[in-house]
Amino acid sequence: MQPTQTNFENHWMPFTNNRAFRETPQMFARAEGVHYFTPEGNDVLDGSSGLFCTPAGHGRREIADAVHAQLMTLDYTPHFQRAAPVSFELATRLSQILPEGLDRVFFASSGSEAVDSAMKICLSYHRAKGEGQRNRFVSRNWGYHGVNLGGTSLAGMVNNRREFAGVTCDVVHMRHTWREDQRYTPGQPETGADLADDLEEICRNYGAETIAGVFVEPIAGSIGTIVPPKGYLERLRAIADKYGLLLIFDEVITGFGRTGSAFAAEEFAVTPDLMTMAKALTNGAVPMSAVATSAAIQETVFAAAGDTDRPELFHGYTYSAHPVACAAALAALDIYQGEKLFERSRALSPVFLDLIFGLRNLAQVTDLRGYGMMAGIQLKPAETPGLKGSQVQRALFDAGLHVKATGDALIVAPAFVSSQSELEQMADILRRVLGRTE
Ligand code: PLP
Repeated sequence: MQPTQTNFENHWMPFTNNRAFRETPQMFARAEGVHYFTPEGNDVLDGSSGLFCTPAGHGRREIADAVHAQLMTLDYTPHFQRAAPVSFELATRLSQILPEGLDRVFFASSGSEAVDSAMKICLSYHRAKGEGQRNRFVSRNWGYHGVNLGGTSLAGMVNNRREFAGVTCDVVHMRHTWREDQRYTPGQPETGADLADDLEEICRNYGAETIAGVFVEPIAGSIGTIVPPKGYLERLRAIADKYGLLLIFDEVITGFGRTGSAFAAEEFAVTPDLMTMAKALTNGAVPMSAVATSAAIQETVFAAAGDTDRPELFHGYTYSAHPVACAAALAALDIYQGEKLFERSRALSPVFLDLIFGLRNLAQVTDLRGYGMMAGIQLKPAETPGLKGSQVQRALFDAGLHVKATGDALIVAPAFVSSQSELEQMADILRRVLGRTE
C-alpha cells in the first residue's frame, strides 16, 4: 500500500518554524516505552519524555483502558453546577501526594490554563481580604509559565512576551539564578541564594501592598534546567511571608517525580501557597492540569461570596475536570504508585546525571546542569542565537534521539521507566552528534 502523502499546508504548527519543518519534516507515527517510531519505521529514543509528559513511558495500556472505559460510561459532563464522582476521587488522590496543606484542587486542561487560574485565585484571595489593590505579579527572567495572557505576562523568556506587550498585565521580573561560578554544577549550586533578595527590593520599589504573588518554577525547566541555589527558595518563602505575598510554584515540569519526590516543593522542603501541575498528571495521555492550594485560601475566597449562591470564583473551563482526563490521571497515579516510579526516578538520577556530566569535555558543550531526572546541556552558540540548538536537535533526531531544545540549550528528561542501557544509548548519541557538530 502506498503511504498517504501528508499535506503540510493547513496545520499551523505551534512554536515551530513551519517553513523549515515542511522542507524536512521530522515526524513520529508510533510510540512504545521510551521509543518513538517515524512513519518510515526508524526508532527514535525519547530523551525528553515527549515534552516532560510521559514518565511512565508511551503506550500504557492501563491508561488506554481507563480512558476507553470512561468514554463508554460518561464521556463528558459540564462542571458548572454539575459534576461526576471521578473528579472528586482524583482531587482526593492528588491531595494524598501533594505537599501537606495543599489539598484543594482546581482543574483545567493545560499548564497555561493552570497558571492563569492560579493568578486569578491569587487576585480573588486578596480582594476577598480587602486588599484588591494587590494586582501586580512578580516572576523571574528566563521563566516559562505558558502562553495564555497571564503566563505571557509572567514570561521571562523575552521572545514569548515581546510581540504581545499590548495585552499583557503588570509583572516585575527578578533576575534568573544562573551565575558564572555555577558552570558544570550538578544538583543545587552553593551560591546564589542572595538573588532571592530581588523580591525584597521589588517589594520596596513598587510597594509590597501592590503585589499579589510571586511565580517561580522551582527548577526553571524550559530554559534548560536551572536548578535553584541552596537556600534560594527558602528565602523567597520568607520574603513572601514578610510582605503578605502569595508564593506560587509552577510545577508543570517538576511535578510527579521529576526531582525524585512527588513535587519539587517536597524535594526542596519549601511549601508554596499555590502550585500548578500538568503534563505528567495524565502521563501526557489526555490534556489536563490543576492548581492546588490550601483550605485557608479557598475558605477566604468562599467566605467573600457570603450567603449568595453566586460562584465563589468567576472562572472555569468547559473542559475543567473532564471525566476522561480524570480517568487517565487516576490510571497514571496508579502506575506511578504501583511501580514506585518516583522512587525509581530518585534511584536512576545519579546514573543519568553521571552520563550527562560525562559530556563535559566536548568542545560544543559550554555548561551542564541537572537535578533528578532533568538536565540541561548548554551549547556553544553559532552566530545567530538559537541556530545551533535547532541544528543539533535536528541532527539528534536523524541519529535516533528526540530531545527538547530551547535556544542553544538541550533539555534531557527521560522517562523514569528508562533502563540503564537506554540512558547509555541516549548519552552515546549525544556524544556522537555533539562530537561532530562544528
Ligand atoms: N508552566 C511551565 C513551567 C511549563 O513548563 C509549561 C510548558 O512547558 C507551561 C506552564 C505551559 O503548559 P502548556 O504548554 O500545557 O500550556
